[in-house]
Amino acid sequence: MPSCLFCQIVAGNIDADIVRTGELTLAFRDIRPQAPVHVLIIPKEHLASTAELTEEHGDLLVEVAQMAKWIASAEGVAESGYRMVTNTGPDGGQTVDHLHFHLLGGRQMTWPPG
Ligand code: AMP
Ligand code: ZN
Repeated sequence: MPSCLFCQIVAGNIDADIVRTGELTLAFRDIRPQAPVHVLIIPKEHLASTAELTEEHGDLLVEVAQMAKWIASAEGVAESGYRMVTNTGPDGGQTVDHLHFHLLGGRQMTWPPG
């Protein structure tokens, strides 16, 4: 998807503050952080949202979970806790149509989310 912002980051055509690269995933800092730690974990492959995940994506989802664990530890929030959130579609608040998992930490989260 040449026009996709996050595909452009994967391709290295747009700069990002990359935290870790995996075989199937990439993690980089959110440009407008909503918490002291705010990292986005994305598949390198273009998938528009969770709605495009199928049984073929098991390896990808395991890598996302392992990536989140590694980042939480590296960022010092593994013990204090953190939140993983994925927005899907307009009512979900999704603004970038390339699947991404927000990892937020370093402050007390509230519930329900806005
Ligand atoms: P969402 O609203 O759930 O689709 O999340 C999209 C996220 O991407 C927002 O938190 C944005 O701040 C973030 N974002 C947009 N452009 C960039 C960029 N160039 N680099 C890093 N994060 C970005
Ligand atoms: Zn994309």
